[in-house]
Amino acid sequence: MAKWRRAARRAAKVSVGAVAGALACVTVAIGGVDGAQILGERVQLPQAMAAAAVLALVVTSVIRRMQFAPPSARAQRVSVWLAAASDLADLELALSLVAGMHVVIAVTGGLRSPAYPLLYGLVAFAMTVLARPGAIATLGAAACLEAALLVRSGMSEGHVISASLHAVFLAGAAVAHAVLVRGLTSRYRARRAKRLEDELTALRDSARDYRLIAAALGPGSRAPRPRDEEERLLAIGGVGMIGDATSWVLGTLKRSLGARTVALLWVDDDGERVKLKDVASDADDITEAPRLASAGVLGAVLRDRQPLLVAATKPGQLPYYDGGRAGTALVAVPISEGGHLRGILAADRDAPFTEADRDLLADAGGQVLRAVQAEQVFRAVERAKYEHERFYSATALLGRALTPEQVMETAFDACAAIATFDVAAMALYDKDRAKHRIAAVRVAPGGEGLVDPAQLKDLEFRDNAGLASMVVKNRHYLPAGGEPREVSAPIYTRKVKVDDAKSLLVLPLLSADEAIGTLTLVARAEKRFSSDVREMLAVIANQVAIALQNGFLYKKMETMATTDGLTGLTNHRTFQARFEDLLQRAQRHNHKVALLLCDVDHFKKVNDTYGHPIGDEVLRRVAKVLQEVPRKIDIPARYGGEEFAVLLDNVDVAQAKAVADRIRIEISKVVVDTDKGPLSVTESVGVAAFPDDGRDRATLIERADLALYHAKHTGRNRVVTWAEAQAAKTKKAS
Ligand code: GH3
Ligand code: MG
Ligand code: MG
Repeated sequence: MAKWRRAARRAAKVSVGAVAGALACVTVAIGGVDGAQILGERVQLPQAMAAAAVLALVVTSVIRRMQFAPPSARAQRVSVWLAAASDLADLELALSLVAGMHVVIAVTGGLRSPAYPLLYGLVAFAMTVLARPGAIATLGAAACLEAALLVRSGMSEGHVISASLHAVFLAGAAVAHAVLVRGLTSRYRARRAKRLEDELTALRDSARDYRLIAAALGPGSRAPRPRDEEERLLAIGGVGMIGDATSWVLGTLKRSLGARTVALLWVDDDGERVKLKDVASDADDITEAPRLASAGVLGAVLRDRQPLLVAATKPGQLPYYDGGRAGTALVAVPISEGGHLRGILAADRDAPFTEADRDLLADAGGQVLRAVQAEQVFRAVERAKYEHERFYSATALLGRALTPEQVMETAFDACAAIATFDVAAMALYDKDRAKHRIAAVRVAPGGEGLVDPAQLKDLEFRDNAGLASMVVKNRHYLPAGGEPREVSAPIYTRKVKVDDAKSLLVLPLLSADEAIGTLTLVARAEKRFSSDVREMLAVIANQVAIALQNGFLYKKMETMATTDGLTGLTNHRTFQARFEDLLQRAQRHNHKVALLLCDVDHFKKVNDTYGHPIGDEVLRRVAKVLQEVPRKIDIPARYGGEEFAVLLDNVDVAQAKAVADRIRIEISKVVVDTDKGPLSVTESVGVAAFPDDGRDRATLIERADLALYHAKHTGRNRVVTWAEAQAAKTKKAS
């Protein structure tokens, strides 16, 4: 029973948002929100309330989606509901946004609304950002609501044509984005996977001959490991694999030649010394000490690069025996790879060797070399596979980031998964102003001191001869080899110096063939950005560009939902929410909070005399004063019409009154130029503060309003607190 109840509770918790979204869609579909009635002569209260409820749901779902954290993998295994939580969260966002958009459409003219492009944008946004269920839900809901709107508007020919056009545009937005974004990545992915698979198959075939597979695919070789560990294991595995293959070759040779010893000697990297790499021998005086490559009889093989047959060695001529061993027969062949001498394969015995023995040895030398080469390719492919796995998970992460800030941080993570850098920076390009601004900087551990991040952050510069400007212009990364040249152009401006960098890459952020900015990676070490890595980073950069643009769209929608269009101030709904937050925080921490309610004096006259547009300009100028006079942490809001509210945190009534007076004086100084000459206005302010004048939101608003009323009735252009209004009332009564 308890189990059932828990499951039901879980189901309710994760699906309540999606259900609310669906209800909002149904409400809108059956005509619960009708623009004509809301904006008509007489406002229909239920209609307006339904519209407000849907819009509130939009805000809630956007906030909930931003704060959503997917349940742990374990939790998802345990409960189907938790496994579906992420999709349900997408569903909630999708349904409520579409419903909200249709409310906007309803109040802006229904089928003829100019707001339709926003809906297409929303569908495109969902297609790129949301997982499949959310994307499909968005498109489905948009289509259903469109059909419902058509039915409600009456199926006249004009309406049917409008609705069909909308449907075509919706489908177009969805298909274009689905095809563009998903198609591009999946094609790239498929091509990569195919190439990798081909390489692997070819390699497996050749590696089997050299018995390499068993060593390479030992237990645990599939577990994810950090890059360094992966490289180390690959190197160890590689050495083991060569060892296995060569031992087998040497052993077989020794048996078939009847040799005392068959030895493989390897030349070191600078070609100066040879070392015994592997040996099959019956002798017990083998030495592993390295020798000069030019010494002894083997020196001659290395010098001439020719096979050598010796009937009887002189003392000291055989480098792999302790005493040098004289009087034995020797055959030796050089092993070279692409013109580079890699080593010598040598055999000795008492009986002289024939030319056929020499040829057999030469063949075996070729086998040893192929084992080494196969192992090198295998290592490269293993590393590439590992990097591609990281690459795909990095791109998946980008799709989940919502705000531009999240995208930029995730972009740095994605780059770190593919390349090792010390400093990364992202600059955004403003085409209209021809200016770049560095929006995000990350210094990796150990990267300190390479550049000054404080100097970079928010640095703004014009188009110039620097790399970032060139990259934006040419839409291709620079420098071509991933390394700065001796005399190179600056990255951003001459003032930004990265003298110690040996690796450098400036990538364009390409979206729809246009560079919207640059992503720069810098490292102290050499050769950090090889051509393979550069290719992957270029793809990541393009994904970052798309994610960034979605982020900007998201931010715009969020701003639209929380601010007032005319003044840019916080809107009424958001004001109420923030007021509530502020009060709760004040209650917990024993703070004070003051509320100012401001109303422009005789504003009707302004409209009547100068016209509505001038009235709007006055409101904008008043809003500007409200933004400038209080502190940054205070919250000015458009309360409604020509009424404004300001929330002052941690301020008592007396201080609030002083602020209000400053605002009042500044507003009286505002002059708006009009056809009928300069225009000035004044305003009256009512003040109430927590906790002295009231403890809850409704009481505080009511009392600030009463104080404002009192200010209006005692001459206007003044500030009155609730306490003052009360005192005046009692005085009058007595
Ligand atoms: P009082 O001093 O008593 O406040 O007088 P008032 O004329 O300002 O009276 P009231 O506050 O009732 O007037 C509000 C007027 O503001 C009514 C409306 O026409 C105008 N108004 C409301 N919103 C806007 C707006 O967005 N733009 C413009 N231009 N006028 C607006
Ligand atoms: Mg008013
Ligand atoms: Mg007024």
